[in-house]
Amino acid sequence: MLAAHLVSFFFTKLQEDPTKKVDRFLYAMRLHDDQLEDISARFQAEMKKGLSAESNAAAAVKMLPTHVRSTPDGSERGQFLALDLGGSKFKVLQVKVREGMGIRKGGVEMEEKIYPIPKELLIGRGTELFDHVSESLKDFLQEKNINLEKTHPLAFTFSFPCEQPTLNQGLLLSWSKNFRLRGLQGKDVVQSLKGAIERTGGMNVDVLSMVNDTVATMMTCGFDDQRCEVGLIIGTGTNACYMEALRHVDLVEGDEGQMCVNTEWGGFGDDGALNEYITEFDRDVDAASNNPGKQIFEKMVSGMYLGELVRLVVLKMAKVGLLFDGFVSDALRTKGKITTANVAAMEEYKTGLKNTRDILTGLGLTPSQDDCIAVQHVSTIVSFRSSNLVAACLSAILTRIKKNRSLRTLTITVGVDGTVYKTHPQYPKRLHKVVRRLLPESHVRFVLSDSGSSKGAALVAAVAQRLASRRKQVDETLFPFQMSQEQLHLVKSRMRADLEAGLKNKNPSTIKMLPSFVYHTPDGTERGKYLALDLGGTNFRALLVNFKKGLHQNTRLYHKIYTVPMEIMQGTGEELFDHLAQCVSDFLDYMGMKNAHLPAGFTFSFPCEQTAIDTGTLLTWTKGFKATDCEGHDVVNMLREAIKRRNEFDLDIAAVVNDTVGTMMSCAYEDPECEVGLIAGTGTNVCYMEDVRNIEKAGRKEERGEGTAKGEHYQDDLTESEKKQRDADAQRMCINTEWGGLGDDGSLNDIITPYDAEVDQNSLHPGKQRFEKLTSGMYLGEIVRQVLLDLTRGGLLFRGHVTEALKTPGIFETKYLSQIESDRLALLQVRSILQQLGLDSNCDDSIIVKEVCGAVSRRAAQLVGAGIAAVVDKIRENRGLEHLNITVGVDGALYKLHPHFSRVLHDTAKVLAPLCNVSFLPSEEGSGKGAALITAVAKQKQQM
Ligand code: ADP
Ligand code: MG
Repeated sequence: MLAAHLVSFFFTKLQEDPTKKVDRFLYAMRLHDDQLEDISARFQAEMKKGLSAESNAAAAVKMLPTHVRSTPDGSERGQFLALDLGGSKFKVLQVKVREGMGIRKGGVEMEEKIYPIPKELLIGRGTELFDHVSESLKDFLQEKNINLEKTHPLAFTFSFPCEQPTLNQGLLLSWSKNFRLRGLQGKDVVQSLKGAIERTGGMNVDVLSMVNDTVATMMTCGFDDQRCEVGLIIGTGTNACYMEALRHVDLVEGDEGQMCVNTEWGGFGDDGALNEYITEFDRDVDAASNNPGKQIFEKMVSGMYLGELVRLVVLKMAKVGLLFDGFVSDALRTKGKITTANVAAMEEYKTGLKNTRDILTGLGLTPSQDDCIAVQHVSTIVSFRSSNLVAACLSAILTRIKKNRSLRTLTITVGVDGTVYKTHPQYPKRLHKVVRRLLPESHVRFVLSDSGSSKGAALVAAVAQRLASRRKQVDETLFPFQMSQEQLHLVKSRMRADLEAGLKNKNPSTIKMLPSFVYHTPDGTERGKYLALDLGGTNFRALLVNFKKGLHQNTRLYHKIYTVPMEIMQGTGEELFDHLAQCVSDFLDYMGMKNAHLPAGFTFSFPCEQTAIDTGTLLTWTKGFKATDCEGHDVVNMLREAIKRRNEFDLDIAAVVNDTVGTMMSCAYEDPECEVGLIAGTGTNVCYMEDVRNIEKAGRKEERGEGTAKGEHYQDDLTESEKKQRDADAQRMCINTEWGGLGDDGSLNDIITPYDAEVDQNSLHPGKQRFEKLTSGMYLGEIVRQVLLDLTRGGLLFRGHVTEALKTPGIFETKYLSQIESDRLALLQVRSILQQLGLDSNCDDSIIVKEVCGAVSRRAAQLVGAGIAAVVDKIRENRGLEHLNITVGVDGALYKLHPHFSRVLHDTAKVLAPLCNVSFLPSEEGSGKGAALITAVAKQKQQM
C-alpha cells in the first residue's frame, strides 16, 4: 500500500500532471479575480452607456426598458394562457395564479405542452413561425378543453432582444441563438402574434404582456421571494435583467420608482470591449456562427457554444500533438460534435472521467488516461470561464443596484433559469462562490426559478392586472381630496358669508371675528426693548426684541423655545400658567435680565374676546389644549397671577395679541401694504384690517347705550392723536377672524371625507374647528394616517398588514409629509422614513404613500388659498376698489417648511381672487415679534 503510494508519487513527479499542459495551453481562459474585477468595471460602464439617451443607440449592451415596474407581492391572482418562445423549447401553457384546485406551494399551478418547431421554420419566414405558434395554441386549448368562446388573457415570453414602447408591444431588434427568420426585424412581434391568431381563427385571446425570459424568471422567483430583483438566464443563450431606478432609465419618462431593465448582456463585447479576453477559439466559434461579430459575450458563456469551444480547443491540442499522440478524427473536425451536455457529463463528480473516455471514443478517438484527464480539464476551464464571466457581470449589476440605493450592504435574491445552470454539476456552486468573493459586503441568494421563463410571463400579466386594479382603487380613494374649481369657489363664498355673519354677531357664528383693539399697522417709530411671550399650538417661545431707531433699522431679537408637554396642555389652568411663568423665569436668567421689569406682550394663539388691548377672555381652547378653569377667564390675569405666585420677577404685560395679529404687525413693520396676517402651523387662522363701520356688534352697542356711528364704542378709549390717526386710517381695526371654525355648522360637509370625520371624532374638540382640521399641521398627518389605514385594510398597501405603528394616533406627524413630498427625495428615502415609523414598505407602497400625502397637503393649501381669496376680496370691496394690492404676512411651520404648500396656496388665491394682487411675506418670529411691536405702541401711548 505504502509502496504503491510512493510509486505514484514519483510517477507524478517525473511524468507531468496532464492538467498542467492544459493550464498552460489555455492560460488566456483562466481569469483571475483582478481580471474579473476589470471585466465587471467594463460591464458597469457598458450599462451606463446603454441607459443613457445619448449613447444608447451605439451601445453594445442595449439595456432595454421592459415596462415591468413591480415584482410580485404574492397577492396576485388569475388564470392566464402563456406562450414561451425562444428558449430551448417552445411551450404553450395554462397558468393559474392562486386559482383553481390543488395549488402547490407558491400558489402557481400550470399545465404545459411542448410543441416542437420544425427546423426549417427557424430559418424561414416570420409569419410561418407565428402561424405555427398560434396553431399550437389552438391545439392546446382544444386538448385541455379550454372554452374557445371566452376571452383569455395571454402572456407571451419572447426571448429575443426587443424594444418595448409598452408592456404589450415589442419591436424585434435582432434574432439570436439558432433563430434567423425573415420579415420580422423592426416589427412588433405582438402584432405578428395577434395577426397569426386571427388567421388561425376560432380563439379569443387578449395579449396582455410580452416579456423576455429573464424578466419572467425574475418574476417567478419574485412571487415567493420579495427580494428577488434580478433575473438570470444561462441556457442556450445568456442574459440578465434587474430592477433599475427609473430615474436612470433615460428612454422612459418619469423618475419615480423602478423598472426592470433587460440588459441583453449577450452583446457585451460586440464593440470590442472584451477584445483583451477573447481567444482564438472564441474567434473561430464566432466566425462559424449564424451572427458573426454579434453576441460576443454570449458566445463565451452560453450553452449553445460551450461544447463547440471545448471541441475547438481539443482539436487544436491534438493538431499540435498535445493530445491523442497527434491523431485527429473526422468527427473531432466536425462542428457540433461536442455538445454542452457532453461538457456537463465530462465534469460529473464520479463518472466524469469515464464519461470523457466514452465521449472521446464516440468521436473515433483512442484516448489514453492522460488524454481523458486533459480533455476533462479543458471542459473545466471552458465552463469555469463561463461561470466566471457571468459572475463578473452579475456583480456589476449588483454593485449598480447597491449604489442606486446607497446601501452599505445589499441583500438580494437572483432568480436563475437555463439548462447550463440547471444541468451542469459544478456550475451553480462555482458561480455563487465567485460572486460572493467579488462582493464580500453583500448577501446574495440564488434561487433556481424552475420553469421560470414560462410561468413568469403569466405573473407579469397578473402583476399588471393587480396594479391596474390597485391604481383604480387608490384613485377612487383619493378622488374626494381633489378640489374642483367649483368647490373652491364655494368654499370661498362660504368663507365670505361667515366672515360677514361673524361681524354682525346677531347670533353666535362659526367664525367669531374678534376685535383686536389694534387700529393701525406700525409706522416705524417704535423703539425700545420688549419681551414677547408666544404661546402657539405646540411651543411656547420667549423673545427679547429691541427696536432700534428708524424704520427698517435692524431689530435685535433673542429667543428661546420651550415645548409644552401634553400633560400640561391638558392639565389644570394653574399648572399651565405656572409652567409659562417658569419658562419666562428661565429666559430672563438666560438673558441676565431678571430685574429689568420689562414691558411685555403676550401672543396667545387661541380665540379671546378682548375689551381692551391688555385683556383677553379665553372663549374656547382649540388644537391640542384643554387645560381646566381657563375658558371664560382673562388670560393676562392668569399669567400675572402665575408670575405673582412665583414671586421672583416682575413683568408689565401691556398687550395680549393673537398670533395672526402679531404676524401681520411684524410684517407690516417691513411692508406697509401688509394688512392681513395668516397662520399655517399647528392650527390655522387669519386676521385683517376691517373697516370699523362694518363691525356691527349691535347687541352690545345697545346694551351700552352709547355711540351713534356703527362700532363707535370700540373707539372711545382713543386719545385725540389716535383719533386723528384713526381718521387717517379710514377707521380700521384688525379683526382676528378665527376662521378655523368655518364648517362647524355643517357648511363644509360636502367636502369632508370619512377620513376627516374620523380625525375629527378622535380629536380633543370633536365637531369644532372643522376648517382647521382640514388644513393645519396638527391634523394633516392624522388624515394621511387614516387614509393609509383604509388602503392597508383594503389590501392596497403594506401587503395588507395593519401594524401597531399604523394604528398609533399621531405617529404620522405633519413634518413627515414635508419630508416625503420633497422633490429632492428619492423613493428609497421615502421608504427609509416609513421604515423609521415602523412601516415596512416596498417601492410601490412608497409611491402611494407619497400620493396620499400630496393629495392631503394639496387640498389643505387650496382651502387656505380659497379662504385668503375671500378675505382679500372683502377688503377690496370694503374700499370700493377695482383692484387691490395687498400683502399677507405669514407665520407657521406648515407654510414655511412644507415643500409645496405655499406655492399651491399662492396659486389658488391668485385664481380665486383675480382682482387682487396678493403678495405673501413670511415673517421671522412674526407672531412673537408683533406682540412686542404692539406693546411698544401701547407703551408709547401711555407715555404721551
Ligand atoms: P405653533 O403653531 O405652535 O405656533 P409652528 O408654527 O412652529 O408653531 O407650527 C408647528 C406645527 O407645524 C407642528 O405642530 C406641526 O404640525 C407642523 N410642522 C412642524 N414641522 C413641520 C414641517 N417640517 N412641515 C410641515 N409642518 C410642520
Ligand atoms: Mg405660532
